[in-house]
Amino acid sequence: MNKQVLIAGGGIGGLAAAIAAARADWDVRLFERASQFSEVGAGIQLGPNVVRCLQAWGLQRPLQQVIASPGTLRACCAVTGQELGRLPLGMDAVHRYGAAYVTIHRADLHSLLLEALRNQPSVHLNLNQSVSSYAESDGVVTIRTSGDKLIEGDALIGADGVRSKVRAQMLDDGPPRITGHLAYRAMVRQAQLPKRLRTSDVTAWLGPHLHAIQYPVRRGELQNLVVIVQGPAPEDLDRWDHAANLPDLLAHLKDTCSYLQDLVQHVPGAGGEWRLWPVADRAPVTSLNQMAQGLVGLLGDAAHPMRPYLAQGAGMAIEDAAELQSALSMHDLDVGLRLRRYALNRWQRNARVQERSLRNGRIFHATGVVRWGRDLSLRMLGSRLMDVPWLYQGNI
Ligand SMILES: Cc1cc2nc3c(=O)[nH]c(=O)nc-3n(C[C@H](O)[C@H](O)[C@H](O)COP(=O)(O)OP(=O)(O)OC[C@H]3O[C@@H](n4cnc5c(N)ncnc54)[C@H](O)[C@@H]3O)c2cc1C
Repeated sequence: MNKQVLIAGGGIGGLAAAIAAARADWDVRLFERASQFSEVGAGIQLGPNVVRCLQAWGLQRPLQQVIASPGTLRACCAVTGQELGRLPLGMDAVHRYGAAYVTIHRADLHSLLLEALRNQPSVHLNLNQSVSSYAESDGVVTIRTSGDKLIEGDALIGADGVRSKVRAQMLDDGPPRITGHLAYRAMVRQAQLPKRLRTSDVTAWLGPHLHAIQYPVRRGELQNLVVIVQGPAPEDLDRWDHAANLPDLLAHLKDTCSYLQDLVQHVPGAGGEWRLWPVADRAPVTSLNQMAQGLVGLLGDAAHPMRPYLAQGAGMAIEDAAELQSALSMHDLDVGLRLRRYALNRWQRNARVQERSLRNGRIFHATGVVRWGRDLSLRMLGSRLMDVPWLYQGNI
């Protein structure tokens, strides 16, 4: 009889873990607290390291139907509007890293992961089921879900996001950090933008205490916009998403170039609306015990929530899942040992990506002499600074 894994959370990480476990010949019972599987209307960048994982799961074809493939990653000054540096993506990334650098609507990524699970008899997806606690004894892990149901399995994966209940019980390390960074996000129809505001590239606009990212998704039909500013978070932190207000955002952008201000102002007319998301994170992982203990493992934001400045949070969740597949496939080992192997092979890379994301935030938002040095380095070294071979090659 197959072993059974219980998964808390049906976000990108939870669905990826379910695919991975099914491919390792485990039965899967996934529990999502929401009443339907869905993702917010925002975009996501997937580096070649992540695309390779999805391809290994046979998802290249559905991916190809919904992605955009940006030609270039550009770094521009948010104040003057001038380009500072560029890194060719497209076929250059394929030649360097064996897979493309792509951008995708989160709902499209979520749907294609869900679709890959739909016709698998060994996978049971449960909605409206919040995992509140777990207990372990005699090689069995039992979860308690909303409605006080008790469900047994051979392993539990906590993929329940930045405010994970599974993590809280495993590590008891308090709530995530309030970073003082706020992400304004919008999605617009490119056809409804003036031509000069449309894009087929990923552009990072770097300014004092802020940055903005724009890129195409859904075959280029939509444009994703994110503006990260610094300021106090709204009081109600439990709700991740807040109706945001354009004048507030424009006040943050008052010293930026006219292109950026224009783009931001065109959002309502191009079918979009600004939403606000306070950015939360945790200090980088410091040991494998922070990713697995006994029959329980953590994955994705539950394990290593990071600032989004390397665009790799969901990517690391998908890489976690790929490693989980290898570990769960070691059918001769005890389950606890398989999970430790998973954690051992993942924690340092996740920590490195968390650290690099933090550092990027400081560089992106730099002022004074640091900003001057950054801009000069980007002008002189451009692509060499913007490429991240250790990350995209998939080694530590
Ligand atoms: C502005 C911004 C831009 C970003 N851009 C990128 C990018 O370009 N590329 C990238 O790779 N990453 C990016 N990220 C990071 C990425 O969004 C996250 O890392 C990723 O979504 C984490 O997925 P997850 O499944 O681990 O967690 P989540 O997406 O938070 O999913 C957790 C799921 O668990 C459910 N849940 C919670 N508690 C329970 C419970 N007790 N029981 C059952 N279910 C529960 C939730 O409802 C949810 O469905 C960005 C993040 C931000 C904020």
